[in-house]
Amino acid sequence: MTQTACPMCSKWRDEPELRVVELEHCFVLLNRDQFFPGYCFVVAREHVTELFHLEPGVRGAVMEEVNAVAAAQAAAFLPDKLNYELLGNMVPHLHWHLVPRFKSDPLWPRPIWAEPHTEVILSGEEYAERIATIRGHLSPVTDY
Ligand SMILES: [Zn+2]
Repeated sequence: MTQTACPMCSKWRDEPELRVVELEHCFVLLNRDQFFPGYCFVVAREHVTELFHLEPGVRGAVMEEVNAVAAAQAAAFLPDKLNYELLGNMVPHLHWHLVPRFKSDPLWPRPIWAEPHTEVILSGEEYAERIATIRGHLSPVTDY
Protein backbone atom coordinates (compact mmCIF):
# COMPACT_ATOMS: atom_id res chain seq x y z
CA MET A 1 0.00 0.00 0.00
CA THR A 2 1.38 3.40 -0.92
CA GLN A 3 1.09 6.30 1.48
CA THR A 4 -1.22 8.15 -0.88
CA ALA A 5 -3.66 5.24 -0.75
CA CYS A 6 -3.43 4.86 3.02
CA PRO A 7 -6.74 5.63 4.76
CA MET A 8 -4.96 6.44 8.03
CA CYS A 9 -2.79 9.07 6.31
CA SER A 10 -5.95 10.82 5.08
CA LYS A 11 -8.29 10.09 8.01
CA TRP A 12 -7.82 13.47 9.71
CA ARG A 13 -8.59 15.28 6.46
CA ASP A 14 -11.42 12.94 5.49
CA GLU A 15 -13.42 12.93 8.72
CA PRO A 16 -13.53 16.48 10.11
CA GLU A 17 -16.73 15.79 12.04
CA LEU A 18 -14.94 13.08 14.05
CA ARG A 19 -11.81 15.02 14.99
CA VAL A 20 -11.06 15.06 18.70
CA VAL A 21 -7.64 16.65 18.90
CA GLU A 22 -4.45 17.12 16.96
CA LEU A 23 -1.44 16.29 19.14
CA GLU A 24 2.24 16.73 18.37
CA HIS A 25 2.74 13.15 17.17
CA CYS A 26 -0.78 11.76 16.76
CA PHE A 27 -4.23 12.59 15.50
CA VAL A 28 -7.18 11.55 17.66
CA LEU A 29 -10.56 10.84 16.11
CA LEU A 30 -13.77 9.37 17.39
CA ASN A 31 -14.78 6.12 15.71
CA ARG A 32 -17.90 6.66 13.59
CA ASP A 33 -19.39 3.48 15.06
CA GLN A 34 -20.12 4.32 18.70
CA PHE A 35 -21.40 0.88 19.69
CA PHE A 36 -18.65 1.14 22.31
CA PRO A 37 -19.21 4.66 23.69
CA GLY A 38 -16.11 6.81 23.46
CA TYR A 39 -14.22 4.50 21.06
CA CYS A 40 -11.39 6.54 19.55
CA PHE A 41 -8.56 6.14 17.10
CA VAL A 42 -5.11 7.46 17.94
CA VAL A 43 -3.22 7.66 14.64
CA ALA A 44 0.51 8.33 14.39
CA ARG A 45 1.23 11.29 12.12
CA GLU A 46 4.14 9.39 10.61
CA HIS A 47 3.32 6.62 8.16
CA VAL A 48 5.11 3.76 9.88
CA THR A 49 3.87 0.25 10.52
CA GLU A 50 5.67 -0.71 13.72
CA LEU A 51 6.52 1.01 16.98
CA PHE A 52 10.18 0.15 16.46
CA HIS A 53 10.15 2.21 13.25
CA LEU A 54 9.88 5.37 15.34
CA GLU A 55 12.97 6.88 16.83
CA PRO A 56 13.00 6.41 20.63
CA GLY A 57 12.13 9.99 21.59
CA VAL A 58 9.14 10.05 19.25
CA ARG A 59 8.05 6.59 20.38
CA GLY A 60 8.03 7.72 23.99
CA ALA A 61 6.08 10.84 23.11
CA VAL A 62 3.56 8.83 21.10
CA MET A 63 2.99 6.55 24.09
CA GLU A 64 2.45 9.59 26.32
CA GLU A 65 -0.22 10.78 23.90
CA VAL A 66 -1.92 7.37 23.83
CA ASN A 67 -1.84 7.42 27.61
CA ALA A 68 -3.35 10.93 27.81
CA VAL A 69 -6.23 9.97 25.52
CA ALA A 70 -6.94 6.79 27.51
CA ALA A 71 -6.95 8.76 30.76
CA ALA A 72 -9.39 11.27 29.23
CA GLN A 73 -11.69 8.48 28.06
CA ALA A 74 -11.56 6.88 31.50
CA ALA A 75 -12.47 10.17 33.17
CA ALA A 76 -15.16 10.99 30.61
CA PHE A 77 -16.96 7.64 30.39
CA LEU A 78 -16.01 5.80 33.61
CA PRO A 79 -15.52 2.42 31.88
CA ASP A 80 -14.64 -0.78 33.72
CA LYS A 81 -11.55 -1.14 31.50
CA LEU A 82 -9.80 0.53 28.60
CA ASN A 83 -8.79 -1.69 25.67
CA TYR A 84 -5.74 -0.74 23.60
CA GLU A 85 -5.56 -2.42 20.22
CA LEU A 86 -2.56 -1.90 17.99
CA LEU A 87 -2.94 -4.32 15.12
CA GLY A 88 -2.43 -2.81 11.67
CA ASN A 89 -3.18 -6.01 9.78
CA MET A 90 -5.84 -4.35 7.62
CA VAL A 91 -4.31 -0.86 7.53
CA PRO A 92 -0.54 -1.01 8.13
CA HIS A 93 -0.18 2.52 9.52
CA LEU A 94 0.49 2.74 13.27
CA HIS A 95 -2.86 3.39 14.96
CA TRP A 96 -4.53 2.37 18.19
CA HIS A 97 -8.12 1.50 18.81
CA LEU A 98 -8.74 2.91 22.27
CA VAL A 99 -11.98 1.44 23.48
CA PRO A 100 -13.74 2.06 26.79
CA ARG A 101 -15.24 -1.27 27.87
CA PHE A 102 -18.09 -1.88 30.25
CA LYS A 103 -19.07 -5.09 31.97
CA SER A 104 -22.57 -4.34 30.67
CA ASP A 105 -21.48 -4.41 27.01
CA PRO A 106 -22.73 -7.51 25.16
CA LEU A 107 -19.23 -8.64 24.15
CA TRP A 108 -17.68 -8.31 27.62
CA PRO A 109 -15.09 -9.67 28.46
CA ARG A 110 -14.15 -10.72 24.94
CA PRO A 111 -12.28 -8.55 22.39
CA ILE A 112 -14.40 -6.02 20.50
CA TRP A 113 -14.10 -8.06 17.32
CA ALA A 114 -15.20 -11.35 18.92
CA GLU A 115 -18.50 -11.18 17.06
CA PRO A 116 -20.20 -8.71 14.73
CA HIS A 117 -22.45 -6.00 16.10
CA THR A 118 -24.83 -3.45 14.61
CA GLU A 119 -23.09 -0.11 14.19
CA VAL A 120 -24.28 2.78 16.31
CA ILE A 121 -24.28 5.95 14.20
CA LEU A 122 -24.92 9.21 16.05
CA SER A 123 -26.25 12.56 14.87
CA GLY A 124 -23.76 15.34 14.17
CA GLU A 125 -24.77 16.96 17.43
CA GLU A 126 -24.21 13.76 19.39
CA TYR A 127 -20.74 13.28 17.88
CA ALA A 128 -19.87 16.87 18.76
CA GLU A 129 -21.07 16.35 22.31
CA ARG A 130 -19.07 13.15 22.77
CA ILE A 131 -15.96 14.79 21.33
CA ALA A 132 -16.35 17.79 23.63
CA THR A 133 -16.64 15.45 26.62
CA ILE A 134 -13.32 13.80 25.74
CA ARG A 135 -11.62 17.14 25.06
CA GLY A 136 -12.85 18.42 28.38
CA HIS A 137 -10.98 15.64 30.18
CA LEU A 138 -7.81 15.73 28.12
CA SER A 139 -4.79 16.98 30.04
CA PRO A 140 -2.09 18.81 28.16
CA VAL A 141 0.51 16.36 26.87
CA THR A 142 3.97 17.49 27.79
CA ASP A 143 6.94 16.75 25.60
CA TYR A 144 8.79 13.59 26.40
ZN1 LIG B 1 -0.50 5.99 6.29
